[in-house]
Amino acid sequence: YIVCRDVRKRFGEHEVLKGVSTEFQTGQVTVIIGASGSGKSTLLRAIIRLEPHDSGSITIDGVEVSDDQRTLQKQRSEVGMVFQQFNLFGHMSVLDNVTLAPRRIRRTPRTAANEQAMVLLKRVGMQDHAHKYPWQLSGGQQQRVAIARALAMQPKVMLFDEPTSALDPEMVQEVLDVMRELARGGMTMIVVTHEMGFAREVADRVMFFDQGCIAHDAPPAEFFANPANERIRAFIGRVG
Ligand code: ATP
Ligand code: MG
Repeated sequence: YIVCRDVRKRFGEHEVLKGVSTEFQTGQVTVIIGASGSGKSTLLRAIIRLEPHDSGSITIDGVEVSDDQRTLQKQRSEVGMVFQQFNLFGHMSVLDNVTLAPRRIRRTPRTAANEQAMVLLKRVGMQDHAHKYPWQLSGGQQQRVAIARALAMQPKVMLFDEPTSALDPEMVQEVLDVMRELARGGMTMIVVTHEMGFAREVADRVMFFDQGCIAHDAPPAEFFANPANERIRAFIGRVG
């Protein structure tokens, strides 16, 4: 599991993470909410070192996240990430998008990689689109492929950074349904989202970020029934 201890990060004068300490337990689904610019994406990115933190420590199963390339590559294969923009490779078919990392990094033979990819595409309801290209798919379909692609490395943890924010409203649910199934299957998940329905139903805990700090962290029932302060109440009122 993932442990953050006094994680700090600044961009120039601006301290974006002001000493974040928390743990993400195996099998737990954490939803992170909070105002724009509060540091949510920066924390997720720090976990896979897309954004190195300045001080404090982040460990995954007891191993420090650092610039040690060998360790980092292993950690990145254990932590899947899905972004707001689906980031599929445009010149590759759906199937090739999903098999790329296993073939390149795991050296999985193509036939085996294809078989595994088809299982994952079925899981996200995209098995009939394996030979299409991203531009032939809707946003919701592309995002489901992006989830299958992240799962292809058989990660222990999945990070989601506003996976439905770029989608037309009618496609949001199909992506949330896939995430809900993943949670039901016991996946450890950290999800930045403004989908409060998802947070209420699926999260084990809801974390509220405010100006680079975890301002509140509670099970959803408690979090929503009885917002810890006025900023949280106002935020929930705005988003949903
Ligand atoms: P949003 O809800 O808008 O996605 P967020 O909570 O994810 O916001 P972050 O993306 O973590 O916020 O950004 C926190 C702050 O850090 C913002 O003020 C942002 O402008 C700044 N920031 C993020 N990345 C960089 C960067 N690479 N260089 C400089 N500033 C950055
Ligand atoms: Mg963000």
